[in-house]
Amino acid sequence: MSKVLTAVIPLPHAPVELRELPEPELEQNSALFDVTLSEVCGTDVHLQAGRLAGVPYPLIPGHVSVGHLSKIRGEMRDIDGHAFKEGDAVTFLDVHATCHACWHCLVAKSSTRCPARKVYGITYGMSDGLCGGWAQKMYLKPGTRCIRLTDDSFQRFMAGGCALPTALHAVERAGIRLGDTVLVLGGGPVGLSCVILALMRGALRVLCVGAPENRLSAARAAGAAATLNIETHDDNARLQWVLDQTNKRGADVTIEATGAPAAVVQAMRFTRDAGGVLIVGQYTDHGDVGFNPHLDLNRKHLDVRGCWGSDFSHFYRGAQIMLNPARSDAWSQLKLERYGLAQANEALAAVASGRAIKALIDPHA
Ligand SMILES: [Zn+2]
Ligand SMILES: [Zn+2]
Repeated sequence: MSKVLTAVIPLPHAPVELRELPEPELEQNSALFDVTLSEVCGTDVHLQAGRLAGVPYPLIPGHVSVGHLSKIRGEMRDIDGHAFKEGDAVTFLDVHATCHACWHCLVAKSSTRCPARKVYGITYGMSDGLCGGWAQKMYLKPGTRCIRLTDDSFQRFMAGGCALPTALHAVERAGIRLGDTVLVLGGGPVGLSCVILALMRGALRVLCVGAPENRLSAARAAGAAATLNIETHDDNARLQWVLDQTNKRGADVTIEATGAPAAVVQAMRFTRDAGGVLIVGQYTDHGDVGFNPHLDLNRKHLDVRGCWGSDFSHFYRGAQIMLNPARSDAWSQLKLERYGLAQANEALAAVASGRAIKALIDPHA
């Protein structure tokens, strides 16, 4: 049986190692997926730093990937009922095993909080099989939701990557109206996709506050009207800048995509009275933060919402946008950096420092 080269995080704080694993036997209605590109995102940095709960180390990271179905046993169908064939170009929803039978799924209709939910490359470990994209091949278990792509859409799709469905969910949940001024805090992949999607959603102007400068210039290339660097502007200077940009009122809607708890309070202060605040950047626990409930929230009559994960609908619609060359053009402005499996540690360092706008793993490089 042939071997598959993979990159593995053995334990929290340990460097990524290369390992060769056997090609798996396929169960009925499962597939082998040849990885063309996978991504390196902030989640992978958190995984290596041991900052996520419930992760079964050792694991193969890489939760959003594109490639081809190289072997299918039984059948796998798309949501229109058409069977996939060997050789088809696809991506697949990284979330698997959402039960559609529990209180979260059926009553609260918040399937992203389903306790049965598993995620390839995050909560599936090596003991579950070839379940991460930092590998030449992956095992797609029965019930994995594949979405058709084309080879020429792979690069644009991966420029959005896992940030795309997250940002799509955030932008919709933020309730942006036609003509709004939207402030995005954070210039990482989620922030950049929020800039592009907020404009698509009808915002007249999108402002972006973040760092470092290469991310802010990417935000401007993606359509942001103005940007501010947090490395050279303190809290007061940032507030003043936002007021100057918004007729002294504050943004209509602010989307927080930073990971810094203090940014949640800033998001409230940078938003106009009766505006909306959407929190999507607090994916890991970085501790508590204080705010003034009277001044920052109640008196401002703010709508503040959280946003956790994404579901098939966000992922599917993100893929359809990327299949449209005109509508997805803004993502082709984002600079991609490719790394082979043996360079996974360099890729993680580039993402952790913010040096890379978007880092991808090419397992056949
Ligand atoms: Zn459920
Ligand atoms: Zn990710």
